[in-house]
Amino acid sequence: MKYIGAHVSASGGVFNAPLNAMKIGAKAFALFTKNQRQWVAKPLDEETISKFKTNLELSGILPKYVLPHDSYLINLGHPELEKREKSLGAFIDELNRCEELGLDKLNFHPGSHLKQISEEECLDFISKSMNEAIRKTKNVKLVIENTAGQGSNLGYKLEHLGFLVKNCIDKQRVGVCIDTCHFFTSGYDIRTKETYDESMKKFDTIVGFEYLAGMHLNDSKPDLGSRVDRHESIGEGKIGLEAFRLIMNDERIDEIPMILETTNSDIWEQEIKLLYSLIEKN
Ligand SMILES: [Zn+2]
Ligand SMILES: [Zn+2]
Repeated sequence: MKYIGAHVSASGGVFNAPLNAMKIGAKAFALFTKNQRQWVAKPLDEETISKFKTNLELSGILPKYVLPHDSYLINLGHPELEKREKSLGAFIDELNRCEELGLDKLNFHPGSHLKQISEEECLDFISKSMNEAIRKTKNVKLVIENTAGQGSNLGYKLEHLGFLVKNCIDKQRVGVCIDTCHFFTSGYDIRTKETYDESMKKFDTIVGFEYLAGMHLNDSKPDLGSRVDRHESIGEGKIGLEAFRLIMNDERIDEIPMILETTNSDIWEQEIKLLYSLIEKN
């Protein structure tokens, strides 16, 4: 089964996110559990947590199909110790917030070397930060997202994700999220059956489908390998509809949250319907 939704607004309180997901016919959703552009947020109070759980139940969406996204400020591979520790502290806080909400995953971007250290050093820092976060929290899975490789962001090569998974101290608590726009603009073609199979084979060999814990479904404004991160509505960009048809009919991608982060939120409901219509019944 495919569980498709979108990164919905949590404005006014996290408990609004499941209702927003319900409005667009989503079977999955993503949200920020705090303001994604601020370091500190007030802790979740009992009432907020209970309202979230009530609304989630009302939406009929199971917690495992919710894929919270962490703050954009966090850089687990920051070259400076002090800033890396600040990031780790904020990351652990986010893992705890997910746990309090009864959710089992947190999606994050690996980190950036800021042109101050090598990619290898940065990946090593990220890996150590992840392991420290795992030691200091209980259950939530750390879901690493691949990136377009814009600026000095790591995660644009499958080898980066593979390294982080391999070096994780608890394999039950690590997963990856493939963003189709980032995948494409970082150089992995998925536009035809042939290129799709080849890119997915690379993914399976270097990372492994057993670690696939979520997907971001986005078409792309920029071209293959451009390393620019700009999303487009499904079928309207450089990737095109065929890739999404292949994804929707790929059984290795079942039972995980699949999240739209496309540019026009007004058409999310139609995009969800469109994606479901691509599934071939046999
Ligand atoms: Zn994404
Ligand atoms: Zn993006």
